[in-house]
Amino acid sequence: MKVSQLIGERTKERPADCTAPSHTLMMRGGYLCSVASGIWSQTSALRRVTRKIEDILRGEMEAIGGQEVQLPVVMPAALWQESGRYESIGAEMARFSDRNGTPMVLGMTHEEAAVHLVREYGRRAERYPFMIYQIQTKFRDEARPRAGLIRVREFTMKDAYSFHTTQADLEDYYSECHRAYERIFAKVGIPEVVSVLSDSGMMGGAVSHEFMLLTDIGEDSIAVCADCGFHANTEVLRRDDGICPVCGKQSITVKRGIEVGNIFQLGTKYTRAMHMTYRAQNGEERHPLMGCYGIGVGRLAAAVCEVRHDDRGLVWPMRIAPWQVHLCAVRADDAAVHSTADALYKQLSSCGIEVLYDDRDVRAGVMFAEADLMGVPLRVVISPRNLENGMAELCFRDSGEVRMVRTEALCTQISLLIRSQSSES
Ligand SMILES: [Zn+2]
Repeated sequence: MKVSQLIGERTKERPADCTAPSHTLMMRGGYLCSVASGIWSQTSALRRVTRKIEDILRGEMEAIGGQEVQLPVVMPAALWQESGRYESIGAEMARFSDRNGTPMVLGMTHEEAAVHLVREYGRRAERYPFMIYQIQTKFRDEARPRAGLIRVREFTMKDAYSFHTTQADLEDYYSECHRAYERIFAKVGIPEVVSVLSDSGMMGGAVSHEFMLLTDIGEDSIAVCADCGFHANTEVLRRDDGICPVCGKQSITVKRGIEVGNIFQLGTKYTRAMHMTYRAQNGEERHPLMGCYGIGVGRLAAAVCEVRHDDRGLVWPMRIAPWQVHLCAVRADDAAVHSTADALYKQLSSCGIEVLYDDRDVRAGVMFAEADLMGVPLRVVISPRNLENGMAELCFRDSGEVRMVRTEALCTQISLLIRSQSSES
């Protein structure tokens, strides 16, 4: 991709109403465009990031036996009346009537549609356990959207639903999914995410965990024990006297966090309400047990930005970076620079390396400031001075390290770096 053709302006000015660094830097870097409160368009740069996150999510869900499906965005109200949630959920669910006057809803979560899809398949006991997942757009009419992609109204989510015949089997799978989530957060570049016990809120299940990135801009409160490492949502702590329920020491402090994922043991709440049954060996009709597992894609991208940035801009981890290399042709009006950078762009691209090529005739200062802002992990600078010696600068966005590399060795060196940085954690 050439910067001269890239849709999404980079700006120096901090946009109004930005309270979170991820919001400010994504706006300034040309990643995001606000359409309405809590509703966003992603430019190509951000879409490349979210697509990579989605691929990681797919890989981890397939690895634990998930089958990707696609459930509808628009559903008849009748489906939500089956579970009772058409009445119990309030104004956050968008409702409308179709042209025939049939009441409809916009999906804000998909337990009902998931049960609907597998209700017939799940009639036979020998087919359990199984898990379906999707990566789908949802709409939840949040009262207070805020902080860019952290709290939005329209969002893309990976949601998964597992079905079991015994509580023990549900619990085993739940643990397996918990481990898959730890791998996901490590792969996208935030291994510091912690899981906390939570009340399961409107999902109505018994056991659930929230995965939290501890950061000051978060809107959830998490009780953390400095002694034994116990974490919990403050809502589940009954006592407010700072005593840890695990080790009994008075070392609980409350921190802020962003919820980047959640998992629930739903039990038979939905299968019972929606009359999903299988025939047990003794001939009895039973309701299967359900688990559900969610991760918001955009919020996850924003959470990574909350941790991985500095005062100059974003610092993407290699695995989910929009591009792997930012190629800067300094003095693009210089014929040698121009032809070397063009040739390098073609060479790197043909090696399968993702390159953002700044081919514009702008000052080096502007070019570098924008490259810092966008946060691509590796930068290659072709300039008249270095080119005289057959060299180019290879710069690392995270450490600031600069190496001089012979231009003909660049492709090999960069390939090695990408391979090692993509396999970390
Ligand atoms: Zn403790």
